[in-house]
Amino acid sequence: MTPDRMHYWHIEHVWAFYILAGLAVAIFVFGLITHVSVWMRGTRRQTIFLFSWQGISNLFLDGLLGRRIFKGDIAAGTMHLFILWGFSGLFAGTVLISADYWLYHFLKGSIYLWYSTCLEILGLMLLFGLAWALIRRYVQRVARLERRIEDLIPVVWLFVVVVSGFLVEGLRLAAQRPEWAEFSFAGYWVSLFWTHSEKARSLYPSLWWIHAILSLGFIASIPFCKLFHVLAAPAGIYLEPQPVQAIPAETRGQDEEVFSFRDMVFLDACTRCGRCVEVCPSTGAGEPFAPRDFIIWSRNNLLKKYHPLKYFTLFSGRDTLTKNNEQLFDARKIWHCTTCRACLEVCPVYVATPEAIQRARTGLVEDGTQIPSLLAHTLEKLYKYNNPWESSKKNRAKWSGDTEITDLVKSEGAEGFCYFVGCTTSLDTRTQDLARSFVSILKHAMIPFGTLGKKEPCCGDIARRVGENGLFEEQMEDCLNLFDRYNIRDIVTSSPHCFNTFKNEYPSYQALKPSEEQVGFQVRHYSQLLNKLVKDGSIRFEHPLNIKVTYHDPCYLGRYNQVFDEPRDVITAIPGVELVEMAHNRASSLCCGGGGGRVWQEDLDAKVKMSEIRIREAGATGAGILITACPLCLIMLEDARKTAGLEDTLRLMDLNELVALALDLKSEEE
Ligand code: SF4
Ligand code: SF4
Repeated sequence: MTPDRMHYWHIEHVWAFYILAGLAVAIFVFGLITHVSVWMRGTRRQTIFLFSWQGISNLFLDGLLGRRIFKGDIAAGTMHLFILWGFSGLFAGTVLISADYWLYHFLKGSIYLWYSTCLEILGLMLLFGLAWALIRRYVQRVARLERRIEDLIPVVWLFVVVVSGFLVEGLRLAAQRPEWAEFSFAGYWVSLFWTHSEKARSLYPSLWWIHAILSLGFIASIPFCKLFHVLAAPAGIYLEPQPVQAIPAETRGQDEEVFSFRDMVFLDACTRCGRCVEVCPSTGAGEPFAPRDFIIWSRNNLLKKYHPLKYFTLFSGRDTLTKNNEQLFDARKIWHCTTCRACLEVCPVYVATPEAIQRARTGLVEDGTQIPSLLAHTLEKLYKYNNPWESSKKNRAKWSGDTEITDLVKSEGAEGFCYFVGCTTSLDTRTQDLARSFVSILKHAMIPFGTLGKKEPCCGDIARRVGENGLFEEQMEDCLNLFDRYNIRDIVTSSPHCFNTFKNEYPSYQALKPSEEQVGFQVRHYSQLLNKLVKDGSIRFEHPLNIKVTYHDPCYLGRYNQVFDEPRDVITAIPGVELVEMAHNRASSLCCGGGGGRVWQEDLDAKVKMSEIRIREAGATGAGILITACPLCLIMLEDARKTAGLEDTLRLMDLNELVALALDLKSEEE
């Protein structure tokens, strides 16, 4: 007899099943449309969609193979893939059996046997994955996972659907006893418990209906519970490489939302896995802030505002109040974020929290009432002095003392690149040595360069990070005008913040201008130039230093721009220097706490300063010197070195200072 399966065996009133299935699909589609309508209504006007091979590749690698979900947590990755592949496979199996029924009967003979065995494997994978998910959350009690009712219900529901599926199959096999039953090995095993085939036959229809109703109900519930991430996450993963279009401050409407379309999808894609909470330096420092809370708070606010049925979510509605009716999150907490990007690095679905926080800050700055007082003062200083240090323009070039440096503003057609010193390096007494050391290295290597002297403006980084986009645009225009007027096409910065702003923020604004008005230039961080000079032999280290050092990756150099190797290559090129890594290094580096405008804010209820956590980690390596490559890190870590009591055991140097020391351009005491 040819192996085959009779559709709807022993089931009456199949029409009722189709009505229920139609209803489930309608509810599902309605839910999906409401989400998309929230994305559309809550988004900024300019939304661009481009076909992207990178997006397709991300979908395959991250969505299907779980590339990011395995990062740092192999157990979570494996568990998730069991659920994903099991669920998707069973779904595909259901589509195949429908096609077999409605279109062409192909599930027979050996194809049917293969089909049956594959479905058994997929069902068991799903069951195993779901059981593992419950164990991780409720038995192992993995710290980053929340244990809310909305987390429990979908998993248990799906678990019951799969178990009931195996029971239904077991009953059918017990009643029919086909020769090929063993190919459906899990169902066959269940059927062994039913020795009375008549009893199995009479029970079968009831259990079939229960299984069908549970399955259809589950599908209908997807857009209304946390499982919606099975749709939103792939959308977010696909959209991740899409460019975000800049919106000039003056074109923003009064009531316009600050989020981009990508942000909206990301907010919905968040699975509340808590990986971001584990790595957030603010949370780690004991501050009352967690990126996941910000995401959920933003999502709930937008749902409340834009969902056609006003917050019609069954299980995903974790609100902004805790069980004790305390406010879990309020707008002022967004100032805690250092925009370090550690959360984005680990988020399995690319939720761009730092970008969303920056945009949310724009809303608060426009509102003007919920800005920390010191930061508001810094913004005033930025407006008045074009730097955050309240220093007049004429002090801007004083750092160089008597050293002769070409002023590109005064010497038309001067050779070489423009060294963009930056506000902090120019004006803060500790960081000025970074610039002096860099200049001494360039002069030693006889590399032509110049600066903008007193005319150098702020690049706009601070204004951009704190959401003051109008000021950012003014400062950007100042810079671009100068670059254009003095034909500056090659820039090297002291600060990773200026580097990142020039490299990654200016282009999206320039793209809005006609091509003839755009100013083209290339920008490098000084560590990249130093590495080039070492590699091409322009600088040679003759004397060994015999020291052990460790290196702190600045967020805006490392995570933002992937400059991890160049500073390390420079350090290890110096003879006698042993480089040891901190526990958190490269992409997992810990933020010093100075980014995102935090250096100009009051302390925000931290139990311990982020910079102290970092400096202690550096001290734990046993290195005598901590090297960094960012003026803000230098300020934050220098301060922490004192408060952490490491003044006698750990020195702090900028990479330029180390290179200058290795070249005998400065003494140990300096
Ligand atoms: S933002 Fe990303 S890492 Fe954070 S909870 Fe959501 S999905 Fe997880
Ligand atoms: S960018 Fe850094 S500080 Fe901000 S939420 Fe993410 S991990 Fe926390």
